[in-house]
Amino acid sequence: MPLVPAYTATSETGPLAPGVISRREVGPKDVLIEIAWAGICHSDIHTVRGEWGPVPFPLTVGHEIAGFVTEVGPEVTRHRVGDRVGVGVMVNSCRTCANCRAGFEQYCLDGFTDTYGGTDADGSVTQGGYSSHIVVDEHFVLRIPEAIPFESAAPLLCAGITTYSPLRRWNAGPGKKVAVVGLGGLGHMAVKLAHALGAEVTVLSQSLRKRDDGLRLGADHYYATDDPATFKELANTFDLIVNTVSAPLDLNAYLGLLALHGTVVNVGAPPEPVPVTLFTLFENQRSFSGSKIGGIAETQEMLDFCAEHGIAPEVEIVRADQINEAWDRVLASDVRYRAVIDISTLTP
Ligand code: NAP
Ligand code: ZN
Ligand code: ZN
Repeated sequence: MPLVPAYTATSETGPLAPGVISRREVGPKDVLIEIAWAGICHSDIHTVRGEWGPVPFPLTVGHEIAGFVTEVGPEVTRHRVGDRVGVGVMVNSCRTCANCRAGFEQYCLDGFTDTYGGTDADGSVTQGGYSSHIVVDEHFVLRIPEAIPFESAAPLLCAGITTYSPLRRWNAGPGKKVAVVGLGGLGHMAVKLAHALGAEVTVLSQSLRKRDDGLRLGADHYYATDDPATFKELANTFDLIVNTVSAPLDLNAYLGLLALHGTVVNVGAPPEPVPVTLFTLFENQRSFSGSKIGGIAETQEMLDFCAEHGIAPEVEIVRADQINEAWDRVLASDVRYRAVIDISTLTP
């Protein structure tokens, strides 16, 4: 099996380090991608730190991947050598269960195969995008429209689709008041997308530090959640609240901000259970939901929507030798607004 350069974690506490990983030979329906850019998602950090469960070390993470097709298997019909393509959080699913057949591969009843840390068809552990190449079944490879700047396309494959999917499902659009909690990688995409969909957008951030950015990204209003007055002023206001925060919050406080029939959708994924007071849900017939990435067809729809509306993530390009530092900056909510690794700086 071919060995390719990668940045890899070997423990929950240590830094990631350069090395090599193996990729499978290109199968009949596979696409070989030379990775150009890889986004740093907070999920990469939760995973390696062991916050979501045991980690199959050594592990190369990264599930926001943008690159060029350099080889295709003989049965591939969707992609050609030279195409700009992306890979997100999934690299396979059963494709026969009711959810897969309905286009919801992310809710595959057998569990989809994660881009990293998953179990591949041959029993090996899947390895992610902090590497120079990846081999993926064509069904899980997305087309990146020319209108999207290549260096900022990668974060759409996770941050973009994870916010687009609930915004569409809960009909964010004209006449709807949408709040986005947390202005990070996911949050800043939620603001851009909700604005482009025509909703009235409010950012609920820990402080007013990023207020100017939030308004520039498309928010109509910006509030600090460290000010208790915010929760009084905005009580019973929103149709939809998308919570992107990576740490546990007092959810009841946010549920109280929902108007009649409003919904809080959690996409942030802290491992701790979060208590919900039922009496808060009774008022206004409120709902609380979760949402996980999006299906493959919906991901392509999101990419095409972004191309059409001139939407792209705001990125900070980092070299491979800056990955550990970038992780620290993610944890400090210091990145504006997604760190993307320039994979050409990765050397074996
Ligand atoms: P991120 O860039 O670190 O953004 C998280 C934001 O949450 C921060 O920018 C910060 O915003 C806010 N925040 C962080 N710590 C906080 C705290 N202690 N209290 C209040 N607010 C805090 O992370 P991300 O990559 O966007 O990911 C966000 C979460 O979504 C992670 O848990 C990730 O695993 C999860 N995720 C879920 C899915 C899914 O399918 N459901 C997909 C991708 C990621 P402010 O500074 O503005 O307050
Ligand atoms: Zn992610
Ligand atoms: Zn399935």
